[in-house]
Amino acid sequence: MVDRVSKEKRSKIMSAIKSKNTKPELALANALSEEGLNFSLQYGKEKIDIAFPEQKIAIFVDGCFWHGCPMHSHTPKSNKSYWVPKLEKNKERDLAKNNRLWQEGWKILRFWEHEINNLEIIVKKILNELNEMKKGR
Ligand SMILES: [Zn+2]
Repeated sequence: MVDRVSKEKRSKIMSAIKSKNTKPELALANALSEEGLNFSLQYGKEKIDIAFPEQKIAIFVDGCFWHGCPMHSHTPKSNKSYWVPKLEKNKERDLAKNNRLWQEGWKILRFWEHEINNLEIIVKKILNELNEMKKGR
């Protein structure tokens, strides 16, 4: 059972996380378009965060909390029976998505939300991947 205070507190935390969650991938998308790259957001049935359909490169930015980042994720102490399976399911869903995309020939790059702080490094990595794909042809 959850008392009222912790319920309120939790929904506050949740909305903070949610609003945070949408930002990192958009920050990355902005940086990529500044490089003059063309990509699609929320692409295809797998809803790839940032997709380069021609090169078949799929980029995901995973929220530290929801996707279980080893540095920042911790299971909330209250209501464990609710959170543990929920977060486990998220991880399973990520893996299943990876597998489906792999099978369709996509190269998958996943970044943690906290890595977006080093936007330059990530942009460089993505540019490298795109160059590699070009060379391969
Ligand atoms: Zn993290």
